[in-house]
Amino acid sequence: MDGMRIVVLTGGIGGARFLLGVRAYARTIGAEVTAVVNVGDDLYLHGLKVCPDLDSVMYTLGGGADPERGWGRVRESWTVQEELAAYGAEPTWFGLGDRDLATHLVRTNMINAGYPLHQVTAALATRWRPDVRLLPVTDDRLETHAVVDRDGGQRAIHFQEWWVRHRAELPTHRFVFVGAEDAKPAPGVTEAIADADLVLIAPSNPVVSIAPILAVPGVRNSIVDGTAPVIGVSPIIGAAPVRGMADRCLGVLDVECSAAGVGGLYGGRTHGGLLNGWLVADEDAGTVVPGVTVRAVPLRMTDEAATTAMVHAAVELT
Ligand code: GDP
Ligand code: CA
Repeated sequence: MDGMRIVVLTGGIGGARFLLGVRAYARTIGAEVTAVVNVGDDLYLHGLKVCPDLDSVMYTLGGGADPERGWGRVRESWTVQEELAAYGAEPTWFGLGDRDLATHLVRTNMINAGYPLHQVTAALATRWRPDVRLLPVTDDRLETHAVVDRDGGQRAIHFQEWWVRHRAELPTHRFVFVGAEDAKPAPGVTEAIADADLVLIAPSNPVVSIAPILAVPGVRNSIVDGTAPVIGVSPIIGAAPVRGMADRCLGVLDVECSAAGVGGLYGGRTHGGLLNGWLVADEDAGTVVPGVTVRAVPLRMTDEAATTAMVHAAVELT
């Protein structure tokens, strides 16, 4: 379809890889892609605003990501981080590379000068030319916190502290999207969804990457009320996430770590949920989600060609 418009809901690393395939597919048919990116992981470190998911997507699509580590910049060095540690400057558990720091400096300067995050993101993207429109889901503060047992009571800690510092191992009651109720979708987000011919949910972490996007008032409704079919891609193959600790996140919600579990969490569009279609891995053939068309295909994003084939399969589900 010429002039097709595709919106992708995405977190960081998994979503960024998926977007490589979406972009490759879009180029073959002249489609436009808008990525609506999670900001729940964003945090201030040493006075700098860091947006891990936006940066993973921007670096990956811009050819500047480290393919082995999965996050941050390729050919990275760590001098500033070592110097900060030598001062005992907390926190020390979050990796901040020297090249990466330049991004956070530019972003923080623009934020301090009054630019909203979506404009800052667009400005950073003029360097990286991702060839996908990158939109933070909101310009407003929205932070994912985990409510954990600590010091004899319940405490909410920032998602990054929970994930990076504690390796998602603390007894956890729930996640809270702090600020979500008062957040507004960034300019262009609900418009892109309303105008879309297809909405894709990347194989991102459903609990801490996709759920915070949907928690911004107006976003979920614009998808449900829109005319575009919604196709999700499972981040779970067999009973495990392909990488990362999505199993721990799903456990907090008492959702089974399986393609069926995540599909059921999103829910069928005809059953008050989001999905028209759900792409699962070959290994998970036979997965049933009430009201949803399920198809099993190879779902490992080993290279761009494999990922592009996944996107073709997603489009064929519509
Ligand atoms: P994060 O924000 O950096 O944690 O990244 P995302 O939330 O966007 O993506 C993380 C998810 O990507 C994890 O739950 C993984 O299971 C999933 N993932 C990573 N690689 C693959 C893959 O090759 N295939 C599929 N289906 N999922 C993947
Ligand atoms: Ca993330």
